[in-house]
Amino acid sequence: MIEQLPAMLDLWQATLQWQPGDRQLTQFQKLYEAIIIGNRKHNLTRITTPEDFWEKHLWDSLLGVAILNTEDKLAIPDSPRQVIDIGTGAGFPGLPVAIANPDWKLTLVDSTHKKIAFVEKTIAQLGLKNLYALVERAETIGRDPHYRESYDLALIRAVGKPSVCAEYILPLVKVGGLAILYRGHWEEEDTFNLESAVSELGSKIELIHAQKTPITESIRHCIYLRKHSPIAHKYPRAVGVPNQKPL
Ligand code: SAH
Repeated sequence: MIEQLPAMLDLWQATLQWQPGDRQLTQFQKLYEAIIIGNRKHNLTRITTPEDFWEKHLWDSLLGVAILNTEDKLAIPDSPRQVIDIGTGAGFPGLPVAIANPDWKLTLVDSTHKKIAFVEKTIAQLGLKNLYALVERAETIGRDPHYRESYDLALIRAVGKPSVCAEYILPLVKVGGLAILYRGHWEEEDTFNLESAVSELGSKIELIHAQKTPITESIRHCIYLRKHSPIAHKYPRAVGVPNQKPL
């Protein structure tokens, strides 16, 4: 028997000015069940209790996109939005973002077959029509004209150093679009270190948003990068290089 997730309607509203509808609550529950069952077979994620899953996977995934509607500085073209999630793992933040925004079109990418097989199965189980999953390296699709500069919004959580994440996702973003780095702690020094990489990648740091998670009060930072110019052909560098020699 798998436990029921808390609905937390008031907490969603108070913290992210958004509430899931009945269909979304059902999909969140199905997603939780898929994770619990998937975890028994493969080690997908450490998160297991309903509260933990709600906070670290659902709430945290939606934090990054919640302020797009309220913050003028973060304007991007109207829906339907093309969105990509790089290094999605078991589907985060991409799956909750797809559930919460049924009119967006998402592409979820990970280099590990096992993870993408899980995501594909979950998409089918939840009956989601607005996303698909792909086994590929960020460095490879970033150079592929079919994907390069094709997305209004790119998301990346828990994949590597900030400048490595920037090199992975900014080539995929359209000029004028946004990339969101989901981070935990963030210091002024991190901003300083990221600035030159972001500028080399035709972009600037538009906004840094800090907020505590509602249950355990852990700090989260979302770093919003605005792409203002096309990126030099040499980026992203060959597979493995961004991580070995970060910008
Ligand atoms: N974003 C998820 C998973 C983070 S774990 C979450 O927050 O829960 C990091 C994931 O990134 C792993 O699944 C790994 O396979 C993937 N990854 C790491 N480097 C990658 C690359 N260069 N291209 C695509 N996926 C990558």
